[in-house]
Amino acid sequence: MRLCQRDRGSCGACCGLYNRADPSPAAVKAELRRRTRALAGVPRTPAAFRAAAATLEAGAPAPLFPSVRVCPLLGYLDEAETRIGCLAHPAVAGGADLRDCGVYDARICESFLCPSFSWLTEEEAALAEDATGGEPWLYGLVVTDVPFLRAVLGAVADGAGAKVERRHVGDARFRGALRRVLDLKSQLAPGSEGLFGAFAAGPGGEDVPRRIDYAAIGRERSRYDAILLCAGADPRSGNDLDALEEEVRRRVDDAIDAFPSE
Ligand code: SF4
Ligand code: SF4
Repeated sequence: MRLCQRDRGSCGACCGLYNRADPSPAAVKAELRRRTRALAGVPRTPAAFRAAAATLEAGAPAPLFPSVRVCPLLGYLDEAETRIGCLAHPAVAGGADLRDCGVYDARICESFLCPSFSWLTEEEAALAEDATGGEPWLYGLVVTDVPFLRAVLGAVADGAGAKVERRHVGDARFRGALRRVLDLKSQLAPGSEGLFGAFAAGPGGEDVPRRIDYAAIGRERSRYDAILLCAGADPRSGNDLDALEEEVRRRVDDAIDAFPSE
């Protein structure tokens, strides 16, 4: 299965794309553009790329998690800014492999596969690509948050009475409605941990599952609990549970309403 670079979808999550104090689409895109422009005229040599990477790093926005690396060599691969990828990869850098100039080294960059490679099916990856239109900011968040994608597809399937399949996403109205459910990620409270799914970093950097303590707030478990958890509706993420639940309900209902009959 291809996941990092598909026909339309491209991801840079493991290169640190979202690790910044302001991970909003506009801020992330501005940083990708800054790097792409800065590296465009740099000679394809290790010395020049190392120097450019250091300069870019010095002017980079603050990371959200200082212990997680952010590579300044991730940028746009096309003029229209529809695809992101490694600007030091030999296929991009005219044959020279300059990935040793980034925050890892070429061997690590070449061999790393994130957990989604084990968890996602090809059908799910294709659904994520089709529903997001391959737009890098959203595509990368969705394919690296498998519980979120599955919770969304499951909620729509429950309401529609049928499994969501790739052929359904061929319908423009349904595709748009499904995208709006997934795009909840772009409208979370500033600093929300929901951007990164249902887990948060523990004191030692380990994954700690979050949960919504419904008993403590005197209400029933939401039927959208899985989506709400992935979107950060727990108290520590700063999103208002009731408001987010209402938004999830509205968007999921719209997707169910738009589910193609054939
Ligand atoms: S996070 Fe996973 S899918 Fe995304 S670029 Fe890295 S390895 Fe590829
Ligand atoms: S050098 Fe490695 S970490 Fe940096 S952008 Fe390229 S693949 Fe990502």
